[in-house]
Amino acid sequence: MNDEFKKLKQKLDEVKDICLVSHIHPDGDSIGSLLGFGLALENINKKITMIKVDDIPYKYKFLPQVSKLKNYEENKKFDLLIVLDCSDLDRLGSFKHITENARYIVNIDHHISNTNYGDINIVDHKAAATGELVYNILDYLNMNINKEIATCLYVAIATDTGSFRYDNTRPKTHYIVSKLLEKQIDLKRVTFEVFQNKTLASTKLFIEALNTLELYYDNRLAVVQVTQQMLMKNNAEFNDIDGIVEYIRDIETVEVACILKEIKEDEIKIGLRSKTYVDVASIAKVFQGGGHIRASGCTIYNNISEAKELIIREIGLNLR
Ligand code: 5GP
Ligand code: MN
Repeated sequence: MNDEFKKLKQKLDEVKDICLVSHIHPDGDSIGSLLGFGLALENINKKITMIKVDDIPYKYKFLPQVSKLKNYEENKKFDLLIVLDCSDLDRLGSFKHITENARYIVNIDHHISNTNYGDINIVDHKAAATGELVYNILDYLNMNINKEIATCLYVAIATDTGSFRYDNTRPKTHYIVSKLLEKQIDLKRVTFEVFQNKTLASTKLFIEALNTLELYYDNRLAVVQVTQQMLMKNNAEFNDIDGIVEYIRDIETVEVACILKEIKEDEIKIGLRSKTYVDVASIAKVFQGGGHIRASGCTIYNNISEAKELIIREIGLNLR
């Protein structure tokens, strides 16, 4: 890993025009690590473009300088492309072609399913969040971490660890967070914006989605679904779906939780969580997805009831 850090340092010394990008359907780690790293690189006088591949979810709009995330100007070329929190380039969705306009790619990620697609790969699946890796990089490069950068990285780590509850949280995670807290970040504000600021529409959607709860295999698998019709009825968006799959995972008997989100009639996004032993990254991989052992996702190109049958069968093969 040290070699990769060294290579990154050399490359950063050489280049001027840097673009940063992360995955579609952004989460706290993707936006926080992208913005945190982007702001730090701006401070050392690099020309930075931070790409917005999707709408920023409501709860992350408070992040410092979030308006610097901009739409991609087609065909714009860069010396260096930094891809954050993406296990493979398909996670860039319709922005995948940005990679063709960069001379060099740096892959910074913590997914176990990462395909090492970069010229430099800083990939560590033991890191709780990509935000941890960005902290390590800034520390290695001796780059200043100001309050704004610390806020972004804190959000990245706090969200990917479920507020330091998931078993990806390690001593190093708390060490890094202690260093970030030394920068006097406004923890009260962060907690309010990220965790205590749900819209009424998302709450109504949450209730309706919970009402679709089905249990299988002696209550060890919990499944919920969100259809386009439910979104429309509640005037909600996909970004509002957050938190439901974690909620049903926490039912006493449940080992695996599954959410089916109807993107289109024949395109169903699946989110998976497990509690103690099932490797949901490998289940997602069966359907060309990926992620982490306890949190993963994939897309099934079928209608929602067929998709449900397929994923339930696959999960059943993995339950003891
Ligand atoms: P979520 O259910 O929160 O969208 O995703 C859970 C985890 O699985 C995240 O770490 C995310 O990066 C990963 N993930 C979700 N969907 C996909 C997918 O389609 N492909 C891959 N490779 N990873 C995914
Ligand atoms: Mn992440």
